[in-house]
Amino acid sequence: MNINEIANFKDGDQVKNLTGWVSSIRDHGGLTFVDLRDFSASIQLVFDKRGDVNTKLKNEYYIAIDGVFKKRDDELVNNKVFLGDSEIEVLQLDVINESKTLPFQIDDDLETDENIRLKYRYLDLRREPMKINIMTRSKTFKSIRTIMNELNINEIDTPTLIKSTPEGAKDFLVPSRKSPGNFYALPQSPQMYKQLFMMAGFPNYYQIAKCYRDEDSRKDRQPEFTQLDLEFSDSDPSLVKSNIEKIIKFVFSDAYDCKISTPFNSITYDEAINLYGTDKPDMRIKQTLRDISEVFRSTEVNFLKDILDNDGLVKALHTDEILSRKQIDTLDNEIKELGSNGLGWFKIEKNTLSGPLTKILNDEEAENILKFGTGTVLFQAGELNSIAKYLDHIRRSIFEPSSEAYSFVWIEDFPYFEQEDGNLQPSHHPFTSPKDDQIFKDDPINAKALHYDLVLNGVELGSGSQRINNPSMQKLVLEKWGLSDIEIESRFGWFIEALSYGTPVHAGFAVGIDRLVAEVLNQPSIRDVIPFPKTQSGLDPLTNAPASIEQQLLEEYNLKYINKDE
Ligand code: ASP
Repeated sequence: MNINEIANFKDGDQVKNLTGWVSSIRDHGGLTFVDLRDFSASIQLVFDKRGDVNTKLKNEYYIAIDGVFKKRDDELVNNKVFLGDSEIEVLQLDVINESKTLPFQIDDDLETDENIRLKYRYLDLRREPMKINIMTRSKTFKSIRTIMNELNINEIDTPTLIKSTPEGAKDFLVPSRKSPGNFYALPQSPQMYKQLFMMAGFPNYYQIAKCYRDEDSRKDRQPEFTQLDLEFSDSDPSLVKSNIEKIIKFVFSDAYDCKISTPFNSITYDEAINLYGTDKPDMRIKQTLRDISEVFRSTEVNFLKDILDNDGLVKALHTDEILSRKQIDTLDNEIKELGSNGLGWFKIEKNTLSGPLTKILNDEEAENILKFGTGTVLFQAGELNSIAKYLDHIRRSIFEPSSEAYSFVWIEDFPYFEQEDGNLQPSHHPFTSPKDDQIFKDDPINAKALHYDLVLNGVELGSGSQRINNPSMQKLVLEKWGLSDIEIESRFGWFIEALSYGTPVHAGFAVGIDRLVAEVLNQPSIRDVIPFPKTQSGLDPLTNAPASIEQQLLEEYNLKYINKDE
């Protein structure tokens, strides 16, 4: 029996062997009140003086009781809580297990250092908000499996001791004891295996997959995370996207009791950068960036003139609000931390312009800026790709999202490669088809990819692409990425070989489940929806992983520890 079932009891009913944790004890002289909590709910227990429960019990003791169910007198009803009109008069108490003094109270609004919560995660998970998070995650898995069965998509698993799958991060490596000097990599994703299923003739595949990426943790990143991974044979981006929309719509209604409308809007990568300054726009914010370069076409403001003469742009956001000096300085500092040279601004109040550049503007420029109307104009000047992230930050800081709960958008037509420290990196992964093979061959830096992302409220929920199904194209992409023939052969020779036996056209996608659940529950970090996450520095305070290993074990694995600091 659980506490939830007691809701159907009538006054005077017998309660037998009800178990749970003591969650609070209140001594009222003749009577002691104890809140008993189990996974399903809480209820008040009443003990009379006999037995001295207030000295015998402490918080989080696990107890079993027998007693009598009672409706409380009207003046004692607490309408704010479930079963606040009921209590159990205890006749028999059995302490099943005591609890040590707790490192923190099992409270809903606990304010304890996250490391302590993670060290005692099993206690943290006893708290109601964490229980809701983890159960929402569990419901998500359940709904995914239901809709996958309905759509006839096959659940198939892939290995986790593999050779590297490049997804733009570093690998977690596992030394092989039996093959000295060799390492397995943990999958950054099941990408190549799911493609092998298509080559093997399976019509489709899905898996709730663990992926491992060794990169700096951020609030929406974890070294180990879970994604819904999918692949479809004889498919293309529009088929994949419509399947994803069906799946997401079902999960929202089945697991979160929320209706969302499909199909989702689509915009291109270039539109996203131009209008929002990011490829992960929060579409609930309606205000967009404006190009005000024309205002300064014949300017005497030197730095703007230089930028415009060198094909740069001036991009602005206008808010009706007249921002205070403090608000402007804060924004200025924030974007400087991101790398900007500083925030440009004008205030327009009573049809008068103010701001650091006002005095050096010519009349026409001033007139054009006044046309924005009362409020504040905030701007950045430079090459669009370098100023986009500052504009995105400003947009998200000064505007409130509209009240709609969920705003999905597809982003398509990504550039095939992005430049990172002078090197080309595929903006998705190197198994993505170029949009146009000829353009890719002639001008890979400006080529687009058949890669599409799904963004929810400014969070990248997932990515997918049409895959290359031709071995020579696959080899060319790896070459343009900068790999030598030897590297291609040793890292991907087996995959190019596999592509060479009649590979169907295929495409797929992966949805980040941790991000989805965190967004639905409006949690600040994905750590809050992962049962046992790592800290931002990738540590597990509960088990103390990662841990050092003994010399003897190192030898068994043919390893030698080198301390780089010595
Ligand atoms: N493997 C990709 C990822 O993990 C998803 C995909 O292209 O299907 O992001």
